[in-house]
Amino acid sequence: MTYPPPLMEPVILKRSEHNVSRKNISSAAIKVLYRLKDEGYTAYIAGGGVRDLLLERNPKDFDIATDATPEQIRGIFRNCRLIGRRFRLAHIIYHGEIIETSTFRAPVPEDESLYCDNTFRTGTEGMVMRDNVFGTPEEDARRRDFTINALFYNIADFSIIDYAGGLEDLKKKIIRVIGDPDKRFTEDPVRMIRAARFAGTLGFDIEQTAYDSICRNKDKLASAASSRMYEEVQKLFFCGHATAVFQWLEKTDLLHPMFHDFSHWIDEDKARHDWVIQTFEQMDRWRKAGLNVHPALLFALIFGEYHEFLSQQLIDAGAAPHDAANEAVHRHLQGMCENVRVPKQAIFQVADIMCNQLRFHKNKGKQPQRFLHHKGFLDAFLYFKFSAKVHKRNEDLLAYWTDLRQQKG
Ligand code: ATP
Ligand code: MG
Repeated sequence: MTYPPPLMEPVILKRSEHNVSRKNISSAAIKVLYRLKDEGYTAYIAGGGVRDLLLERNPKDFDIATDATPEQIRGIFRNCRLIGRRFRLAHIIYHGEIIETSTFRAPVPEDESLYCDNTFRTGTEGMVMRDNVFGTPEEDARRRDFTINALFYNIADFSIIDYAGGLEDLKKKIIRVIGDPDKRFTEDPVRMIRAARFAGTLGFDIEQTAYDSICRNKDKLASAASSRMYEEVQKLFFCGHATAVFQWLEKTDLLHPMFHDFSHWIDEDKARHDWVIQTFEQMDRWRKAGLNVHPALLFALIFGEYHEFLSQQLIDAGAAPHDAANEAVHRHLQGMCENVRVPKQAIFQVADIMCNQLRFHKNKGKQPQRFLHHKGFLDAFLYFKFSAKVHKRNEDLLAYWTDLRQQKG
């Protein structure tokens, strides 16, 4: 298969042939679409929004694709900011909602000789570092990652436009790469973990050639930008289907290149694996209950058992418990930053959660009240409660602190 695939006639579903209604689209997105259309531009909802509407799921957000250039968009909307160096796009703000609006993109050129004016620049082994060239709707659709993410909703006639076979794959419940998987995963290795995320979130299968390609190319994840990896890692585990996503990461063996030391450590003992699964189940319960867990607490929970293990090793070697807890977190998360750049502030917060665990054992005198009013108490308590339940340990202490918290009101 070549990439970009040859252009073809799109499949178009008329309004009467699909279930997507304007009622289910945010009014801010509708306003932007109509405004662009009234100015004479093509205006589509693109990507995940269309996919989720067709699946009757609640879209997280609505991205818009248009033939207006970023400057033209800025000329139309007062409440608009242009962002992005890699690809310039517009953020249009309506009543606090940000509608991301981008100009149709051209495909990544096949021929290296096109990489001449600094518009495109390739890094090692065909990775795309920077691009900013506009294209047609077909080209835009085909440079997206998966067929189900390449559908458009056209505000002009309320039709769905499919240039990549996404409608068929939505029916078949398949995550299929657009074009040649080896090539697309090399261009942007982060797409491999996105495949696992969509498969887990939607309950879809990863199409066989894409699956085989992930198994072949997984080590390329090491060359993905660590800041993007951090963004994607958060999406993986905050999506409300973290358990299923984690199972896909294990099945495809993406976990090893993502979290090298941690994943090998899990492999050694089933109990460790169980802790991680229970963490994700807890994450999913919290998401279902509408709770927002911030990244530091997420990382504290996922890696908690591992950090406790590292900390114990340091204690055995003579370190004081507080220093050991702090050192364990910093060593691991800073080391991991080569792959996934965890921000410094989050690392400090994780270390705080772990160091604060020691304070739950000090329930005499004034210490408990002081700790209860400490700003890090709640996160530390959530961790303490979770680990007490998983390990069936510290039950009396948990009851004591739960009471104290309730008394505080
Ligand atoms: P979610 O519901 O989780 O936001 P999404 O499909 O909207 O899922 P985003 O990360 O918000 O995912 O990206 C929006 C769209 O941009 C995708 O649907 C896809 O068409 C395109 N896209 C995003 N990342 C990539 C990528 N790495 N390569 C190609 N296309 C991408
Ligand atoms: Mg999205």
